[in-house]
Amino acid sequence: MSERLSAVKGMNDLLPPDSARWEWVESTLRSLMHRYGYQNVRTPIVEPTALFVRGLGEVTDIVEKEMYSFEDRLNGDQLTLRPEGTAGVVRAMNEHSFLREGGRRLFYIGPMFRHERPQKGRYRQFHQAGVEVLGFPGPDVDAEIILLLRALWRELGLVEGRDLSLEINSLGQPDERRAHREALIRHLEAHADVLDEDAKRRLHSNPLRVLDTKNPAMQPVVEAAPQLIDFLGEASLAHFNGVKAVLDAAGLAYRVNPRLVRGMDYYNLTVFEWVTDKLGAQGTVCGGGRYDGLIEQLGGKPSPGVGWGLGLERLMLLLEAAQAPVPAAAPDAYAVVPSAASLPRVMPVLEALRAAGVAVVMHAGNTEGQGSMKSQFKRADASGARYALIFGDDELARGEVAVKPLRDAQAAQSLQPLADVAAWAAQLRNA
Ligand code: ATP
Ligand code: MG
Repeated sequence: MSERLSAVKGMNDLLPPDSARWEWVESTLRSLMHRYGYQNVRTPIVEPTALFVRGLGEVTDIVEKEMYSFEDRLNGDQLTLRPEGTAGVVRAMNEHSFLREGGRRLFYIGPMFRHERPQKGRYRQFHQAGVEVLGFPGPDVDAEIILLLRALWRELGLVEGRDLSLEINSLGQPDERRAHREALIRHLEAHADVLDEDAKRRLHSNPLRVLDTKNPAMQPVVEAAPQLIDFLGEASLAHFNGVKAVLDAAGLAYRVNPRLVRGMDYYNLTVFEWVTDKLGAQGTVCGGGRYDGLIEQLGGKPSPGVGWGLGLERLMLLLEAAQAPVPAAAPDAYAVVPSAASLPRVMPVLEALRAAGVAVVMHAGNTEGQGSMKSQFKRADASGARYALIFGDDELARGEVAVKPLRDAQAAQSLQPLADVAAWAAQLRNA
């Protein structure tokens, strides 16, 4: 036997029964997106490296150390597996001039890649759902994308306040950030003795990111740092207040966290995170904000944008921790077929049942034949199906099938006509 191969470290197989929860979450997401008027986009997983360097900023965790970048062996192009979704969506909108006719509400679901140390809630291939709302400058859409998330939590059985909560902040505009940045650098320089290597390196290149440190020794310096909110002008404050007013009116509780900064350089004005205390260090389930400069930075006509990215693995872990219900993945019925010779007669009946919306699994035999009735019933039971459909020779000779309830000891077995599947399909479906 040859050596068995394994998946790449930090990249996971998603298998049944766990995949059922994923499908349920994704279909809930898609249904919500359509109710809010968001359209689906699918961009390539591989993009030019320059897209992320220009889009995310050189001095970010992602661009500095997390990207899977490589050279195309055939033509030497510099390529990267996408580490996030926004840059690719913006590139596509620019490339196809999609914002010419006004604003767009978009969403995506798919894999992202970052070379990080794998741990619970942190992987090298992970999945994000995201929205990008492009072309609308007002705080109303910032609030809309946040409310959409609350609706998602509710439909998934998560409770705000208990399972996760909202933090918001405003990063203002570039000139306000510059003034704050200068004050911040002065403050950090005054405490240079307690800064770690990372902080020293970023002190002048990206001091805001120093505030994002997880180093406990630096917390006092971080806490005492000048706050950006005190440098915001009238328009920025009005935008922030506009977001808060909608959230207040909608009864959504939040905490203003003046130290909330996001990992990517492209954010301005509103930033937010949904955080949980149920996942240890990987407590941010979803992060987002406004990025009014990004579209132009990537070569498009200047146009505002706002969006979020939701980590699906973390969401699944949270659903598990919160003991949210797992949807049933079992079929309605399992077809017990004692003799392989009757399959040509049976299979068209199963086709008719499926066309009528019944989920039915056919017993498929092995090289020794169909197997005993006993072993077929064992399979039927293990499938979780509510009914066994018994296609015995006697039943088939009479043009019938025996329908046997498997989960309800009180319910009686019945015989149903093969010629009129529609007459009894609903009974299997709606039990
Ligand atoms: P963190 O601070 O945890 O590294 P981040 O700020 O890098 O998160 P974003 O780039 O904002 O994360 O991505 C949005 C969401 O995607 C995160 O809130 C998280 O739920 C998820 N996410 C990010 N990186 C990973 C990863 N390596 N594995 C799993 N999920 C991730
Ligand atoms: Mg990160």
